[in-house]
Amino acid sequence: MVNGSNFQIEQQCPQCGAPILIDETDRILSCKFCRTRVYLATEDHLRFYIPPAKGIPETIYFIPYWRLKGLSYTLEETNISYKYFDANFLSFDLSSLPYSLGLRPQALKLKFVGGNGGIGKFIASSYNKREALLNNFRTHTSRPHQQEIFIGETVSVIYTPIYCANGCIYDAVLKTPLFPKIADAEIEPVLASAQVEKWQIKFIPLLCPNCGANLPGEKDALIVFCPNCNSAWNPSDKDFTKINFSIWREERADVIYLPFWQMKVKVTGIQLETYNDLIKVANLPKAPTEAWKHTPFYFWTPAFKINPSLFLRWCRQLTVMPAPVDLSTDFSAKNIYPVTLPVTEAAESFLITLTSLMVDKRRLLDLSSSLKFTLEDSSLVLHPFATSTKEELIHTKLGFTMDRNALNLGADL
Ligand SMILES: [Zn+2]
Ligand SMILES: [Zn+2]
Repeated sequence: MVNGSNFQIEQQCPQCGAPILIDETDRILSCKFCRTRVYLATEDHLRFYIPPAKGIPETIYFIPYWRLKGLSYTLEETNISYKYFDANFLSFDLSSLPYSLGLRPQALKLKFVGGNGGIGKFIASSYNKREALLNNFRTHTSRPHQQEIFIGETVSVIYTPIYCANGCIYDAVLKTPLFPKIADAEIEPVLASAQVEKWQIKFIPLLCPNCGANLPGEKDALIVFCPNCNSAWNPSDKDFTKINFSIWREERADVIYLPFWQMKVKVTGIQLETYNDLIKVANLPKAPTEAWKHTPFYFWTPAFKINPSLFLRWCRQLTVMPAPVDLSTDFSAKNIYPVTLPVTEAAESFLITLTSLMVDKRRLLDLSSSLKFTLEDSSLVLHPFATSTKEELIHTKLGFTMDRNALNLGADL
């Protein structure tokens, strides 16, 4: 799907030192020599650098660029348009440096920042808050739509190396000048502020914090499940955090479980607490019932990467139904598709989902400046899909289908 444009990262095995090549979206590092498996954890975002060419005597400075990949939705009066989004941009204000990292050859292998004391000095990135960096991006690209909503799959920082010689700034990969002249007054204080970067990737052994069992997991999984004590963990914040999860249990064997986020959201500006409220707000062709008066309303999204059209379709078709009530927490599901979309990004979907459910989109867009969504609680729910046909997976409870190609699943599943 979008993997074609990913960078590769060179990293040594923390146990035996063997060189390992991983994809920039990988979170689990497996060593085929010593069989070590560790989780690549950070408190915020991953930081990579592009190695400079050899034999440059000048000081190397590393310039930070934000890298964002994901889905972008634009809300308009009568419809929602969407596309993939893949961008990188300078992470501080300096007009004399290129705003975009530009195209880099995919053969270029990146490395994790940290533990490379002598390699050069790193300039700190600004806009560390999500909204600040997106606003900066919108300003520079003069995107006309304020109603553009971004759901990120990947957010990281890539440092590119430069050096100063003969009054010019040089790209330290190609050894070519970036500009004919440099704005000394502007760039000098920035370079002077550069430091040795202290950030380092953390390696966490993949052992269940509850029972000590080995935790299996696909290499790009953001959440790992313990099949021994039936728990789920988010290892990305340097310590494992327990995740609420439940399973829509299916007894038959030819099933794969796809993860979805179920989110309880406080909505201000509109009455949307119960399923009856949704019927009213979205003008659904259903009669409110006494039971639905007490049925909480939840937003849903896929918890995995998928194309923008299917993502929205699944948000809509799960959110428009009352939540399932026959969920189990004491059933050990096998064959779980990896969680690759964090709940923090899933929580950007609320306005898009709600808009897509409404016939009169203009009414919601008029309201949207006063609408506020606050995520109060979230749970991962594993939904069962039958694997009996080659082309598609079929939700065993709801009958909805999921194209296998959209999930990058081969017919061998
Ligand atoms: Zn090893
Ligand atoms: Zn366990």
